Amino acid sequence: MFPERIFSGMRPTGSLHLGHYHGVLKNWVRLQSEYPCFFSVVDWHALTTHYETPEVIEANVTEVLIDWLAAGIDPTQATLFIQSRVPEHAELALLLGMSTPLGWLERVPTYKEQIEKIKDRDLQTYGFLGYPVLMAADILLYRASLVPVGEDQVPHVEMTREIARRFNYLYGRESDFEEKALEAARKLGGKRSKRYLELRNAYQQDGVDEALDQARALLQESQSLSLNDRERLFGYLEGARKIILVEPQVLLTEASRMPGLDGQKMSKSYGNTIGLREDADTIAKKVRTMPTDPARVRRTDPGDPTRCPVWELHAVYSDDATREWAAAGCRSAGIGCLECKQPVIDGILREQQPMLERAQKYMDDPSLLRAIVADGCDKARKFAHETMRDVREAMGLAY
Ligand code: SF4
Repeated sequence: MFPERIFSGMRPTGSLHLGHYHGVLKNWVRLQSEYPCFFSVVDWHALTTHYETPEVIEANVTEVLIDWLAAGIDPTQATLFIQSRVPEHAELALLLGMSTPLGWLERVPTYKEQIEKIKDRDLQTYGFLGYPVLMAADILLYRASLVPVGEDQVPHVEMTREIARRFNYLYGRESDFEEKALEAARKLGGKRSKRYLELRNAYQQDGVDEALDQARALLQESQSLSLNDRERLFGYLEGARKIILVEPQVLLTEASRMPGLDGQKMSKSYGNTIGLREDADTIAKKVRTMPTDPARVRRTDPGDPTRCPVWELHAVYSDDATREWAAAGCRSAGIGCLECKQPVIDGILREQQPMLERAQKYMDDPSLLRAIVADGCDKARKFAHETMRDVREAMGLAY
C-alpha cells in the first residue's frame, strides 16, 4: 500500500567520530542507493537530555550535517533535514501521546538504564519519559517501512509498531468495508451471503462500527460456520479498517566493531574517540599514545596482539599482510609498538582524506549546506503534511 521507505535520525550532541562512521554512516551510504531515505538531525531528541545546555545542540547541528555529507551521504539521493524545521513531528507526537499508555513508556529498558547511568543531569522529566513517542512520530510521519537500528534500539521500533497499531485500531476507518464484506459473502455463498448483504445494509445505514458489532454477534451465533470460516470473516471485516500509520520493520544493523583508543567501544562518554574530521597531527598523537599489551614494557619484550587495543584497529584498517607482519613482529619483539601503530595511523588518514575533501566544499561555501537543508526540509514537510492530513481526518480533527 505504501512504498518502502527508510527513516533514521541522529542527535546533534557532538561532532561525529569514527564509531559513528563505521557503525551508522557507512550503512546509510549503502542504503541511500537502495531505498528512499529520510535522514534527520533530531534536535528535539537532543533537548530531552540537554534541555539545560541548548547551546551544545546549536553548535552541533551544522557540524553533524557536514559530517554526514563528508561521510558520503548524497543529498541528491537521500533527504537530509532538521527535525524541528518540520513542526508536524511535534503535532504527531502530541496526538500519539494521547493514546500511549504510561506503562509502555516506563517499561522501555533504556529509560531506567539511562536515568541510573546519567547522574549529572536531571532526567526525571515529561520530555525524557516521552521520547519514545517522539521517536515513533518521527518514523510514522514518513510512513517509513524500515528503520535501520542496532540491537539496543529494537525495543523502540517495537514500541513504534505498537503505537501505530493502537492508532490504526482506534481511528482507522472503513475505507473498503463494502468491498470486503461482499468478497466475504461471495466466498461463503448461499444463506451466508444473504447475511453479509444484510451486514452491508447495516453498514450503509449505521456506519462501520455498528456493522462490525453486528458482524461479531452474527458470527458468534452462527453454528453453521466452521471456526476457520469465522476467523477468515473476522479477518475480512477487520481488514476493512484503514491503515493510517505504517508499522515499521527493524532493519537490523550489524553492531559496529569499531574499537576506541582504549579497546572499549568507541564512544564520546568513554573519551576514547577519533573525530571524523580531526586533524592529522592529533590523530597520530592519539594513536601513538594508545595503551598496548602491558607485557611489552621494553622494546625487547615479546607481546600478545590479542591483548592490545591497537591490534583491534589493525582489524579495521590493515590488510592481511600488514596484520601478519604486526602479529609476528609483536610476538617476536621484532617490531616496536610505535612501528606497529604507523600503518593504523596511515589507514585512518587514508580513510579520512576523501571525507575532508567533501567537507571542505561545504565549509568554504555555507550557502551550499543551507540550500541542501532547505530543500530536504521542504521535501520532508510535504510527506509530513500528507500524513498529518490523514491523521487529523481519522481523529475527527479536520474541521
Ligand atoms: Fe600492540 Fe603492536 Fe605493540 Fe603488539 S607490537 S603490543 S600489537 S602495538
